[in-house]
Amino acid sequence: MAKSQTRYLACIICGKKYAGCRSCDDATSYKAWRSLCDTPQHFQIYRIIQELNLNAITLSEAKEMLSRIGVYKKDIDSLLPSVKAILEPVFARKQKVKEPVKVPVEKPAEESADPEVLSFPIENEE
Ligand SMILES: [Zn+2]
Repeated sequence: MAKSQTRYLACIICGKKYAGCRSCDDATSYKAWRSLCDTPQHFQIYRIIQELNLNAITLSEAKEMLSRIGVYKKDIDSLLPSVKAILEPVFARKQKVKEPVKVPVEKPAEESADPEVLSFPIENEE
């Protein structure tokens, strides 16, 4: 019992305490998510925040990435205040109502691809 090597770490995203993994701590060749976060999902959030801080992605890209890993506006309430502060603008972005929906001008190059097929009744009796 006394020899337990379990270290308790706080997730940098949600602040929850979790049992740290020693072998992950020892890993130097890569950044083990287990040494930062309690769940892989929270590590994904961490990566997204890093990208945001580096301006590598836009807010809407971040939002898309977050939704891909199942993180929505309601979820950020359970995260650390500092994390929430970063993610809030991502979700606060509202669709501008004023902006008219633009219909793309470009049309696919090939419209009715095979007009012959359309203009003649098909008689495929053999
Ligand atoms: Zn967490």
